[in-house]
Amino acid sequence: MKTLLSLYLVFAVTLAQFFAVYFFSKGRTSYRKAFSALVICISIYLFGYLMIVNSSDLQEMIFWNQFQYLGLPFIAVLWLLVALLYTKIIYSLNMRMALLLFSVPVLTFFVRLTNPWHHLFYTKWELRQFFGYYALYMERGFWYYVNISYTILCLLLTVIIYCIGYLKDKVVHTKSHFLVFLYASLLPLIGIALILFAFEERGIDYSALIMPASLLIISYGILKYDFLEIKTLARETIFEHNLDGMVVLGPGKRVIDYNKAAEKFFAAINISLKNYPIEHILEQEPKLLEIFESEKSHDYSLVIDGEERFFEINVMPLGGYHDGNTRMLKYIHDVTKERKIQERLKFLATTDSLSGLYNRAEFMNLAQREFACAKKNNAELSLLIMDLDKFKNINDTFGHAAGDEVIREMGSMIKSSFRKTDIAGRIGGEEFAVVLKHASLADARKVAEHFREAVAGRKVIYEKQEIGFTVSIGVAAISGNNDDVNDLAEILIMADDALYKAKARGRNCVVTS
Ligand code: GH3
Ligand code: MG
Ligand code: MG
Repeated sequence: MKTLLSLYLVFAVTLAQFFAVYFFSKGRTSYRKAFSALVICISIYLFGYLMIVNSSDLQEMIFWNQFQYLGLPFIAVLWLLVALLYTKIIYSLNMRMALLLFSVPVLTFFVRLTNPWHHLFYTKWELRQFFGYYALYMERGFWYYVNISYTILCLLLTVIIYCIGYLKDKVVHTKSHFLVFLYASLLPLIGIALILFAFEERGIDYSALIMPASLLIISYGILKYDFLEIKTLARETIFEHNLDGMVVLGPGKRVIDYNKAAEKFFAAINISLKNYPIEHILEQEPKLLEIFESEKSHDYSLVIDGEERFFEINVMPLGGYHDGNTRMLKYIHDVTKERKIQERLKFLATTDSLSGLYNRAEFMNLAQREFACAKKNNAELSLLIMDLDKFKNINDTFGHAAGDEVIREMGSMIKSSFRKTDIAGRIGGEEFAVVLKHASLADARKVAEHFREAVAGRKVIYEKQEIGFTVSIGVAAISGNNDDVNDLAEILIMADDALYKAKARGRNCVVTS
């Protein structure tokens, strides 16, 4: 009988040690850490019992009983803690919660340690003989019952938590996890009942016998459902190492979890994500706070290491938006690369590479918009069309590359001579157009005349040769209350006609329509 019991306990301690090491090495989530602590406490308790069973000296037994209490008081509360963490009733153990849960077990530990002084835990020790082996018999004191009541309370709560988890969970395969945990938590309760009511008859610690069965049930669950392992690990790894920053907001918009990328994103604005409500964390960043509190996707840009970076901050509800649920996953997607490519493509599609001005299509686009806007507001607007004089001659005399240089020079002169708000484009080979906002025909004429003079005075140096060039300009305008011109095409024709006249008048001059 004694040998059988010892063998059983050796097996159980080995099993518990194996689980403790296994879960500790794999444990990244808090419930797995709590689970390894639980298994360590169980193995201490079982080892103590193994030593008691194998000793026949009262003092030795008392010593090993004391040893058992290094782990025993914490078993039930750790069982409860695993349940709280696994079912996500709590996400991590904070100081208040730790005090609430662990004060009775810690007190029990000290009361048992100091028992010889006050006998509050065990009032009497005795060696009793049962069926050929010795057992330690103790008369229970006041604190023993406090401890056992607390233990029962913890285990009952654990069973209730898994019951609720099982009933609430609608996913079949996660449902079974709760059932396995539920069975494994019911067994220690039965063990305690047996200790309380039947210990004296045989002197056997039924809890110690039942505990390994609990462990085996859990190991069965692990092997069958793999729930503490690969799946969770895979999900965690994807979360942790995702290139998108991820922040999990819990009830009250409190930051529950975040990954490395999110940490990096917030570090760039000197913000550290702690277990606070988001409004506290982002106090100094009202715009970002608004985005994080919103249930829609938003764009956000940030200068990181001197470079502007663009982000899409998206949101995914966790568990549906019911009953004022504010749990959500915010993920921060860096779209800088895409944005830069888009910007580059847009630039290439809208800009003339030689002059650096808008190309014909984009100029027409923007001019059309500006024309419509001016018409709507009865505002003045002028249009200049400029054409280089005898440009063919420049090409013929100095070569095509020299001609290009002149076009480039025209581009930079136009850019620096007109206002930033004016719209300038290269609309043909050596033909340019500028829309002057809020400018009357007289104003535009002055500006054009000024520009014509500037061009006439400019020389382009190409391969040590000075190339002079002139421009003819046609000007047209709509005045605020002029209803004759209803279309951009009309004003273009008017300016073109004026340009034609300028050419006819001998070039290098400005003509208004
Ligand atoms: P006008 O005073 O009547 O405008 O005389 P012009 O020689 O400028 O007249 P025309 O419009 O007939 O000639 C324009 C020339 O501009 C023809 C073409 O070879 C040249 N050209 C058009 N695009 C480019 C270009 O991108 N680079 C160069 N170098 N020449 C161009
Ligand atoms: Mg020309
Ligand atoms: Mg031309």
